[in-house]
Parts: sequence; C-alpha cells; structure tokens
Amino acid sequence: MTAAPPFPMHVSVTDARAYLTALLPPRTAETVPLAQAYGRTLAHDVPALVSHPSATESALDGIAAREADTLAATPDAPARLRVIGESRAGAAFTGTVRAGECVRIYTGAPLPAGADAICPVEQLSDDGPDGVLLRRAASPADVRHEGGDFRAGEVVLYAGQRLTAPRLALAAALGHAELSVQRRLRVALLSTGDEVVTPGQPLTPGQVYDSNSVGLHAMLLEAGCEVLPLGHAPDSPQALQAAIDAAGGADVLLTSGGVSMGKYDFMRDLLVEQGRVSFWKVRMRPGGPAILGGWNGLPVFGLPGNPVSSLVVFHVIVRPALTGQPPQTLRLRAATPFRALPDKTAFWRGVIDGGTVRDYGQQGSGILRSLSDADALVIVPEGQPAQPGDDVDVILL
Ligand code: AMP
Ligand code: MG
Repeated sequence: MTAAPPFPMHVSVTDARAYLTALLPPRTAETVPLAQAYGRTLAHDVPALVSHPSATESALDGIAAREADTLAATPDAPARLRVIGESRAGAAFTGTVRAGECVRIYTGAPLPAGADAICPVEQLSDDGPDGVLLRRAASPADVRHEGGDFRAGEVVLYAGQRLTAPRLALAAALGHAELSVQRRLRVALLSTGDEVVTPGQPLTPGQVYDSNSVGLHAMLLEAGCEVLPLGHAPDSPQALQAAIDAAGGADVLLTSGGVSMGKYDFMRDLLVEQGRVSFWKVRMRPGGPAILGGWNGLPVFGLPGNPVSSLVVFHVIVRPALTGQPPQTLRLRAATPFRALPDKTAFWRGVIDGGTVRDYGQQGSGILRSLSDADALVIVPEGQPAQPGDDVDVILL
C-alpha cells in the first residue's frame, strides 16, 4: 500500500484559488499620479473633493427664463421675452432674470438668478434687437442642479475597483491629481521543456514554439501585475533550480510545463521532493495537473505546459487570486450540447453568436487555434451537462 501524499490532491477550483490567495503577500498601497493609474486597483475609497456640477447650469444652448412666463408658448402663439444678457461657460451673467426677461445661455453655463428653466435654441427665433420668441415652454428638466451628479465629500469610487478609462476620468472630475492604489504584484514567469523554442529561432520536428511565455506575460499585464520574465528552462532539476533562484524579489513564480505524471516532469518533482506543496491537481479540465507549492519561501504556481490548459488555469484560478476578483461570468443560452464530466468542472471553449454560445468543436487542449477562435470558456459543473436552450455561465476570453 502506498502512503497518502502529505498534501491535498484533486482540489476544487475554488479551493485552488483560495490556496493561492493565501500565499500572496498583503497588498500595500502607493500613491501614483493619474497618468500612471490606468489599470491599477484602488487601495482606498475615493471621495469627491468638489461637487458636480459645481454650480446650477444649463444642459443646452438656448435661453434661461422663468418657466411660469413661458407656459402658454406654442408654435402658433409663441411667447416673447426680452433678452437682458448672456451666460456662457466660464463667464456667468451676474444680474437677475425678472418677469418677461431671459438670458442667452450655453451648455455648462451657470443658470442666472431668477431663472428656473431652459428653452433650447431650436425652439427660438429672434424678434427685433432685444427680443426672442419661444415656440415651446422653457423646461426645468434642462437645468442641471449643483451637486446633482455628486456632492463634495461623497464617496464615488471604492477600494478594490480596477481603474478603467471611465473611472480614471471620473477620478479627475472628483478633483484628484493622484490616487492611492495597490502595489502591483511582481510575478516571475518561466517556461519549461526541452522541446520549447523561442519564437524567431528555427524549429525542428518535435519542437514547439514558446507560446506560454508570450501569452502568460500579456495576461499578467492585463491582470495589473509587474512581470519578471525568466525565459525558458530545459527539463533538468538543476536548470529548474537555477531558474527559480533567479526569481528573487518576485512575489510569486508562475511556471508552465513539467507538472504532470511524466518522467521528465521535474517541476512537480522539485516541489514535491524538495519544496513544500499546497496542492497538486485540480478537479477541472483542461488544466487538471496544476500544482501550487513553495521554494525557499517563494510561492510557485505550476501551470500545465499545454497553452490551452495554461490559459484556462490562468483565467479560472491564477487571475482571480492575483486580482482579488472572482472571474466575471456571463449567462448565455447554449446553442449546442455541452458535455459534463463526472468528477471535474469542464471549461469548454465556446463561440458566441447572437446571444447564444456554441461548442467550438475541437476541445483537445493541444488545439492552439482555439486560443484565437474561441470567445469564451463555457463552465459545465461536475455531472451537469447542458442541452441546447439551457442557460450556461461563460467566462469571456
Ligand atoms: P508538459 O506540461 O510539460 O507535459 O507539456 C504539455 C504539452 O505542452 C506538450 O505538448 C508541450 O510541448 C507543450 N508545451 C509545454 N510548454 C510549452 C510552451 N511554453 N509553449 C508551447 N507549448 C508548450
Ligand atoms: Mg514538459
């Protein structure tokens, strides 16, 4: 009888994510100017420093008037108002609008005292040197009220939010020139395999280009990480050890290849025999052989070498742990059946078409074209196949 291994095996996807999260350092904060904050994650809630709009203003080009003076206006019987001045963005009218009067006003210009409504320029015609005819009543709905969007002191952005382009624009509108963001995680990246060749070099039969270094690097950047590229190491315990030792200063090392059951899968051997293992194998397909361990205090996550498998494990386990955000899923109608596996969650590649998702067809993890042709990973829970017409959860690629 063989003894049970001294670490968990065949863990769930959720547990795998939790094990990795537990090995990552706590996220400290740093302050960066807005121009460097794109893609970063907010470390603190962000209050508005000012109100928006900063004054009550017009939403349109037209005239500002008292609604009550204009209620009877129609195209056949327009209302006549006397124009007493102009309010434009950056140069307010300082007087007061009284009965029978109005002020020409432009989008974003402060509403003059006394006025409470706007009539758009399309509904106006000039009537003599100082008169204007309104074919429609002026409307209070076209007034934007001070603080109607947000008020000074109100929290508008939240800790943990990723700074997308719209959120960055909002941060500027709130009055911030810099933001407190989480320090980026430093992720060292290593491909392994005697057959793996850097693109640009000649390829002999039996070899394969190193697509993982390229794909994973890009995915790490998308996940907001700093990447320490270690290139690629051959299948030898010494070479792997030397490469791992070069990952000093990283928060975590991500490797690909060498974690399955094969004789030359030394990455697994190294962690199992000389390192510390948090788990080996996840109840998922593709990507089942993934391993998490540590080497001299450095957390090491070993992805399977197959580019499709490594992509799936990255999306489902690594990215959520690195970003602290669970995968974003979308519910779509299945257009084809999706097979379930008895004891694993399946992540089948799917093609999205008009609100439905269909099976990409070739689900072998060696089919590299699926990296480009598939739009989504269709999540099929253990033992729960989907039929056409069923709703399925998908992760967008
Ligand atoms: P392994 O996980 O090392 O057993 O590798 C599984 C499969 O993935 C094999 O067909 C490898 O040739 C392939 N593979 C491993 N590493 C890479 C890589 N960096 N780029 C592309 N294919 C790889
Ligand atoms: Mg290998």
